[in-house]
Amino acid sequence: MAAPNKDYYQVLGVSEKASADEIKKAYRKLAKQYHPDANRDDPRAAERFKEIGGAYAVLSDDAKRKQYDQMRKLGAFGFGPGRTAPGGPAGRPSRGEGADHGFSFEDLGGGFGNISDLFSSLFDLGKKGPEARKKGPQKGPDVEYVVEVPFLTAVRGGKVSVDVAITEDCATCGGSGAKPGTNLKRCEECGGVGSVAFGQGGFAVTRPCPMCFGRGKVPEAACASCDGRGSVRQRRKIQINVPVGVDTGSKVRLSGQGERGKGGGPAGDLIVTFRVLPHRFFRREGLDIHVTVPINVVQATLGSRVRVSTISGKKVVLKVPPGTQAGTRFRIRGQGVTKEDRVGDQYVEVKVEVPEKLSEEERKRMEEFAEASGLKH
Ligand SMILES: [Zn+2]
Ligand SMILES: [Zn+2]
Repeated sequence: MAAPNKDYYQVLGVSEKASADEIKKAYRKLAKQYHPDANRDDPRAAERFKEIGGAYAVLSDDAKRKQYDQMRKLGAFGFGPGRTAPGGPAGRPSRGEGADHGFSFEDLGGGFGNISDLFSSLFDLGKKGPEARKKGPQKGPDVEYVVEVPFLTAVRGGKVSVDVAITEDCATCGGSGAKPGTNLKRCEECGGVGSVAFGQGGFAVTRPCPMCFGRGKVPEAACASCDGRGSVRQRRKIQINVPVGVDTGSKVRLSGQGERGKGGGPAGDLIVTFRVLPHRFFRREGLDIHVTVPINVVQATLGSRVRVSTISGKKVVLKVPPGTQAGTRFRIRGQGVTKEDRVGDQYVEVKVEVPEKLSEEERKRMEEFAEASGLKH
């Protein structure tokens, strides 16, 4: 188990005072919800599932939970109630800025000499080493976007383009962060290592050096285009293939289109979630398409043939039999959405429109009709 990067109580959605029973209940509910078997389309569910399991493994074990609570109280993870160490200089600002891990052993004063042992026993550190210490190429982070898709593009498939903001090497300085024509020098903050560590012994929390942004070198003069960061946020236009039949919430993963990797590692992925826009005529329910078509009183009474558009762009002739009631639904087979080897139907509901105004002649005929049929009015 690696050191947690999220608060275990938050992961399980319980308070820090939760009873063993409450913890168990919360775990069962979440484990069921995020079980990979129930979330085959969502790769993040497996990750979440693991996280839930990790949190439960610690919080369900009395001894481990006690240790965890103690560490958490000390602010060891950069979350939780913060530093309230007895005898310690509580509230002192942590070293560096940002303070994702606002924790340093120095802050604890004496009396905590065995703290790294505590960590080791709790998270098996020192054997494999924490994630943060990993060197070498690392895959870049994934980027997630919600993309709006026109209704007909979603049902027929097609392309949409999306503007994605990605961090890229600065073109002016080629990623070095130095003003063109100037040199780089060793970063004094981190001694050229690129990361700063908090802690000692078998345990250390490291993070990228805030002075050199993890590069180990700082420019003599900073590049004006990127403020010496070596990277800039760029908007990149990406064409996305919309698979036939996508619905709101469908996702696609474009590998290598996310943030760039570290140390020569591959770029992360772009994960796109589709949001299908409504259509003025078609409505969709699963694979079926629903439409409402107006017909007049004569068509409803005497029968008629009406032309109805389908999502494929065709017009289908629908036979309306004599005596059709308002609200009657007709089914046009096989004109719904196609997904893999299944295809839905199109349902047409007729709305009978009653004339709002009658001419003198029409009124006379209507009354004759009423008389002939014995209808009162
Ligand atoms: Zn630059
Ligand atoms: Zn540095």
